[in-house]
Amino acid sequence: MKKILVRFDDLCPTMNKEQWEKAKVLLKQYDVKPLLGVVPECRDPELLIDKEDLHFWEEMRSLQKEGYTLAMHGCFHECIHQGKTLVSGPGYSEFAGRSYEDQYATIKKGKEILEEHGIHTTIFFAPRHSYDLNTLKALAANGFTHISDGKSHTVWNREGILCVPCRSSGCPAIRFNGYYTAVFHAHEWVREDKAFAYKEFVSLLENHHQDIVDFNEFASRKEGHPFVQMISEKAFIFYENHIRPKLSALHVLIKRRGRKNGRKT
Ligand SMILES: [Zn+2]
Repeated sequence: MKKILVRFDDLCPTMNKEQWEKAKVLLKQYDVKPLLGVVPECRDPELLIDKEDLHFWEEMRSLQKEGYTLAMHGCFHECIHQGKTLVSGPGYSEFAGRSYEDQYATIKKGKEILEEHGIHTTIFFAPRHSYDLNTLKALAANGFTHISDGKSHTVWNREGILCVPCRSSGCPAIRFNGYYTAVFHAHEWVREDKAFAYKEFVSLLENHHQDIVDFNEFASRKEGHPFVQMISEKAFIFYENHIRPKLSALHVLIKRRGRKNGRKT
C-alpha cells in the first residue's frame, strides 16, 4: 500500500498566479486534494512576484470548502534568523534559534492574520524545514496540533505536536509501499533549473493519482514511539548528509571508469 500526500508551499497573494493556475487545472482533473502552505503576511522578496491578488483569500476559503487542507506556512516567510534546527542544515530561518517568547509571538501573529481572513487551521510547516523545539512548544501553546515536517519513519508526538514526516524536499521516487510527501513550489517552475519539477508533478498525477490521499488520511496512522522515532530521524539525517553524497560520488566514479575502460577495448 502506498499513500502519497501532495503539498504545495508558498501560497500568498503575490505568488506567481499563472503557475498556480497551471497546478490547479491538474489537481482538479485528477481530483487531488493537496495540503497548501499559506503564508499569512509574506515579506519574502522572492515571493513578491505578481501584483497582489485581491481575490486570494476568497480563493483559499473556497478551496478549503472543496476539501483542500490549508496549513500555516511560517508567518512572514522572512528567513533572517540563525540557529540550530532540528532537521534542516545550517542557514537562515524564520524560527530556529529564537527564544520561545519571540516564536510564540510570531506564530500568534500568523494565526491571527489567517483568522482575520476566515482561515482556521491547526496544521503548520516552517519555511526551509527550519524549526527547533521552541517552535514546536510555541505551536502547541497557540493551539496547533500537527506539522507536516520531520525526518522520522512515522508520525510521532513531540512537544504536544504530531510530527507528520516529510522526508523529501521535492517529489520523491515512488517505488515501494509506504508514505510519501511530494512537495512542490509552483512559482519555481518558470526557472530553467526547476522546469523538471513541473514534469515530476504531471508524472506523479498520471502514474500515482490513485495513491494520493488528503492530509487527514495521510496523518492518521499508528503513532511511533518517541525514542525510536527520534533515533530514526537522526539516522535518516546522518545518511542524507554523510553517506548518500559519498555513495553518489562513488557511483559517478564507477560510471566514469566503466566508460574509460569501454573506450580502451
Ligand atoms: Zn516556503
